[in-house]
Amino acid sequence: MNKGHRYGIHRSIEPKDSLPQPAWKIDNCMKLYDNELLIDVEVLNIDSASFHQMKGEAKGDSRKLKETILEIVQSRGKLHNPVTGSGGMLIGKVEKIGEKHPANGQGLRVGDKVATLVSLSLTPLRIEEITKINEETGQVFIKGKAILFASGIYTKLPNDLERNLALAVLDVAGAPAQTERMVQEGQTVVVLGAGGKSGLLALYQAKKQVGPTGKVIALEYSQTGLDNIRKLKLIDDIYQADAADPIQTLKIVETATSGALAHITINCVNVANTEMTSILITKDGGKIYFFSMATSFTKAALGAEGVGKDVEMIIGNGYTKDHADIALNIIRESQPLRSLFEEKYG
Ligand code: NAP
Repeated sequence: MNKGHRYGIHRSIEPKDSLPQPAWKIDNCMKLYDNELLIDVEVLNIDSASFHQMKGEAKGDSRKLKETILEIVQSRGKLHNPVTGSGGMLIGKVEKIGEKHPANGQGLRVGDKVATLVSLSLTPLRIEEITKINEETGQVFIKGKAILFASGIYTKLPNDLERNLALAVLDVAGAPAQTERMVQEGQTVVVLGAGGKSGLLALYQAKKQVGPTGKVIALEYSQTGLDNIRKLKLIDDIYQADAADPIQTLKIVETATSGALAHITINCVNVANTEMTSILITKDGGKIYFFSMATSFTKAALGAEGVGKDVEMIIGNGYTKDHADIALNIIRESQPLRSLFEEKYG
């Protein structure tokens, strides 16, 4: 077996010797290097911002959507949406473990079911066939293979949760884990896009963190999302708001907080142009967690400066220590949340 680099540099084609995530094209030949893991893929969970963009471009034509996915993988060797820059993650069965892969001798066996916790935007992927696309959830069922580098994190799929549900939760595991780390007792937290996957998990965790003296406000655009939040019976302050409309949303948050605004804003939307809203609804000295992949660094940085807001802005690192366990445990803990996820993904 050829010797591979820990970070997968050996697979970068364009440009050569670059890291695989920023590389335009990577090698998706499924011959294993010594420190790689080969996965027989079952389902891809496309990142919501990416799926939303591709679906919009396909204008309801499922065949076009399928072709777009196949074209990206064929031209880049990975499912790295060139418009949004984002990917997603996958689940499948371990087919082969390279002799130098860190999992060797660590309890992982051929045949184990795993979910990758690194982005599809850097994962060598080969699709033989797309068998089904769930256009509601962004889950794509395929026949194909993928490679995980030595540095690529993964988790074994839990036995007590349904496969597609676990996939949906693990995709956004960074959001509740980061919420746990950031939010403190007594604070006011606003979640934008609160009715989606990451939004619901962040809401649940935020409510736990702020305790009885704090306040969690859920803002959501769609009626389905609003209904989902209500079903949790956890949050009192739920408002319909378009996160891409800063002025209207500011009015709502001003009213809900008697002008005090949020200590922490968690942005979980899947559309562009929501940076200014996040900035305006957060108080001076507060924090914004941009989990959304549709966030523009330039818009956020210049926008905050433009309105003279001294806020700390945090990029939503997909990885937070123990994030997979934290997210899955929320589903085990909260029956209403579990039912909601089961309804959509189970
Ligand atoms: P999701 O389940 O699709 O949820 C997004 C929510 O935002 C939906 O409820 C959506 O409503 C709502 N929304 C859309 N437009 C809105 C608007 N203008 N105002 C208010 N709400 C609006 O997505 P997700 O899987 O939770 O992902 C959320 C974001 O996190 C996405 O941008 C995704 O790409 C990103 N992400 C980041 C990471 C990371 O590592 N940082 C990892 C995974 C995902 P509708 O139902 O009407 O569309």
